[in-house]
Amino acid sequence: MLNGKTAVITGASRGIGAAIARKLASKGADIAVVYSSDDNAAIAVSEEIKKDFSVNCRCYRCDVSDFDEAKKTVTAIKNDFGSIYILVNNAGITRDGLCAMMNSEDFGRVIDVNLVGAFNMIRHCCAGFIRQRGGRIINISSVSGIMGNAGQANYSASKAGLIGLTKAVARELAPRGITCNAIAPGFILTDMTKDMAEQAEQQEEIKSRIPLGNIGSVEDVALAAAFLVEASYITGEVLRVDGGLAM
Ligand code: NAP
Repeated sequence: MLNGKTAVITGASRGIGAAIARKLASKGADIAVVYSSDDNAAIAVSEEIKKDFSVNCRCYRCDVSDFDEAKKTVTAIKNDFGSIYILVNNAGITRDGLCAMMNSEDFGRVIDVNLVGAFNMIRHCCAGFIRQRGGRIINISSVSGIMGNAGQANYSASKAGLIGLTKAVARELAPRGITCNAIAPGFILTDMTKDMAEQAEQQEEIKSRIPLGNIGSVEDVALAAAFLVEASYITGEVLRVDGGLAM
């Protein structure tokens, strides 16, 4: 059980992040919901978590790609909760387009949020983890970072970068009993993918490429996150949650 432990989940105001927040709260963790713009969605997630699981839960508006804002947020969370034990870097965006036509702003922004954002949060949390000689870091990558995906050069690069970041950080922090792992989801139904999923033809095409034959749910990813929080002898691993898509 995770009673008395605090989990920071970025991008927890909806989708996969909200499901991970609920899952860890169901195991007793106190939750810091980090989000970038939608106050009402974050407050709704936090109120539900408090009501359903009787844990402490607070919201923090923060653009994780901003080094100083991330620092202020981590400091505020430590002041409010005392310490942090779990960091889930889940905040992510897409700005899809073919590489031949992609502008540098769209390439850079996706790298900044998805990869630099995770670095910023790890950077500001790790001193506390080292001091307490324990902690869990989970980075939400993607099968796009393993296989590459046409139309997603920026996103695939950011998610592949997260895998390298995960392994380097795992090696650096292992001597202090801190684990760092990545989850690589396949196709999961959320706001990020709903446009694709709404088109029946495209949905059938996607399903035909997935060995298990169906699109994943946010709970599938949350289950993997909870497993990696409890696993003390797994570090530097990339756990695919993709119905077999990238095997
Ligand atoms: P989503 O529904 O679009 O939610 C994205 C979340 O990230 C929101 O809470 C959003 O907050 C937050 N966010 C965006 N930019 C941010 C920033 N600069 N700073 C802090 N928070 C920010 O996404 P999702 O589908 O749940 O995806 C979650 C993660 O899983 C992402 O990293 C994504 O790449 C990865 N993933 C998803 C799939 C999939 O099929 N859905 C597959 C593989 C990997 P606001 O709403 O407040 O802006």
